[in-house]
Amino acid sequence: MTHLHHGWDKQPDPAVRARIDELAERIERYRASYYAGKPDISDAAYDALEDELRDLDPTHPVLARVGTPVAVTEWEKARHEIPMGSLNKVVNEAELEAWAARCDELVVKEGGKAISDDLFVAEKLDGISIEVIYRDGKYADAITRGDGIMGERISPNVARMRGVPQKLKEKLTLSVRGEIILKLSDMKKSFPGVANPRNAAAGTSKRFDGQGCEHLTVLFYDLADHLDVTTEEQKITFLRKQGFGTPWTAKGTLKDVLGIYRKYASEIRAGLDYEIDGLVVRANSTAAQTLLGEVNRRPRGATAFKFASQAKVSKVVEILWDTGPSGRVTPVAIVEPVELAGATVQRASLHNVGNVRALGIGVGDEVLVSRRNDVIPYVEEVVEKGGKTEQPPTRCRRCSAELVTSGEYLLCRNQACPALVEGRIHNWIDAIGALEWGDKLIEQLVEAKLVKEPGDLYKLKPKQIADLERRGDKIAKKVLDELTSRLPLTLPVFLAALGIEGFAIQTARLLVASGYTTIEKLLAATEQELAGISGLGPIKAGMIVRGLQGRKAEIERLIAQGIVPVTQEQEGPLAGMSFCFTGALSRPRGEMTNLVEANGGRVLSGVTKELNYLVSAEADSTSSKAQKAKKYGTVLLDEAGFFKLIQDKGVTVS
Ligand SMILES: [Zn+2]
Repeated sequence: MTHLHHGWDKQPDPAVRARIDELAERIERYRASYYAGKPDISDAAYDALEDELRDLDPTHPVLARVGTPVAVTEWEKARHEIPMGSLNKVVNEAELEAWAARCDELVVKEGGKAISDDLFVAEKLDGISIEVIYRDGKYADAITRGDGIMGERISPNVARMRGVPQKLKEKLTLSVRGEIILKLSDMKKSFPGVANPRNAAAGTSKRFDGQGCEHLTVLFYDLADHLDVTTEEQKITFLRKQGFGTPWTAKGTLKDVLGIYRKYASEIRAGLDYEIDGLVVRANSTAAQTLLGEVNRRPRGATAFKFASQAKVSKVVEILWDTGPSGRVTPVAIVEPVELAGATVQRASLHNVGNVRALGIGVGDEVLVSRRNDVIPYVEEVVEKGGKTEQPPTRCRRCSAELVTSGEYLLCRNQACPALVEGRIHNWIDAIGALEWGDKLIEQLVEAKLVKEPGDLYKLKPKQIADLERRGDKIAKKVLDELTSRLPLTLPVFLAALGIEGFAIQTARLLVASGYTTIEKLLAATEQELAGISGLGPIKAGMIVRGLQGRKAEIERLIAQGIVPVTQEQEGPLAGMSFCFTGALSRPRGEMTNLVEANGGRVLSGVTKELNYLVSAEADSTSSKAQKAKKYGTVLLDEAGFFKLIQDKGVTVS
């Protein structure tokens, strides 16, 4: 027998042999439990194990059986009129070329035309295969693939799915093949918290109450009937004409197909609203397909051209509980390295403590590691327990403080925790816009106890930085210059840089515009006063007041250090002037605002009696703001007028 995979031309090493035997034994066992109606593992994990075995030993007898067997459920069994086979697969360009060359050779020998010049390619949907039958043009039946011979009749559920016409354009009796999928947009909307669309589609399509089936979609790609078609292209055209939804398809040469594959793998796939795991490549001519026949119930004239795998089984080596900059503890599983979607993965997120408990995961467990939809790799499920279940820590790994539980999360609330200190320093550096300061440098400075709060940054001596590992005089000078070049800070930037919860730059600007023009005024403000500002409310006001009081000593040390925020009452070419920006401007709103505030002016968010200048794209604007401004006698400026005004006042515009 000729198979189209890379085979072993020598005996595999004993470790690989042992893994093959183990996989074969387990696949058999999982099938048995599936038959008994008590599946041990999910379809996705089962597929990953089968894929692994296929990679190691493509001709293993355990793989000869098609698909996953039918589970024992209350759905009625039904026999497919024409068995639903599955496809051989190739996993790289060389294998596809070898497949095409072999087909060409066989077809030409039989007097046919080489298929390499006339191929048909379609997206390979990662869903649940289904056969749908129409009688006299009316929807009649839907049967899952099952083991390829027998499936389950889930007709009422499929009737509710999108893309399944109840009536055809013509009164035909025929059987069509499609794939049940859950679109990613529908998953987000209707299945919150679900990560794997294929598993959700599989579970939902077999629910006895049919609930959720209205959010599933079926895309059709094949016609198992003797209609008068001679090419795959005609089949798909026919399906579309009858009102069926179909995946994207194209016709072309082998070279075209390789180009399409590269484009899909590198960009198109990531932007699709549904998951595909490869392309299906077929001889376009049905005559050529017939000539090529079948091997092991798999058509030789078609192949699945798979993308690099997105989910694989690996073993947990360690579980880390890292405390993040906000104090939130994020568990991460360190796993034995696996190749996923073109990258070697060793760290897989476990999201939060609630998820760790739900998974019941521990070191030594075999897990399914996933990297779907371009998200960071995460552990999807525990395939087989191999060790003790992980006990979440009670103390922070960075500072040993007692952790508290908040919803699904563990939190470190110790403000002196190095992780939180790093977070606050990071926020300060980001907010003031200092460049050259990397995470690693901040970590080193906190680790060396040189920096405990933002004020300490301004006490740093070049030598202290230069002496750190892998730093030096040049870096020390550069980062310290960056820091001082940002001074003086405007009051809103100063406030936002503190990183108080619920107190970002927008809120800081609102407070300044509402008359809290100095840090002293703000520190003296009560919750009640702030709650009265429109756009704040009591909850935010409380967070601001408590946040500021908690950092009061730190703020005072910053000011003593000479880091005094510039306020509108201070000198500046635009002191005493107020501006409001409206409409689409040529520069970002934030840039205009900074320009005004850095020069002592005030920026208001709306038109009030206090407003001096309203700046809009067109000076003759008739917007409601412009009309209000006219009523108050506010000066209306276009952008050119604005820049001329501030330059006349002595502001340099870059
Ligand atoms: Zn801590």
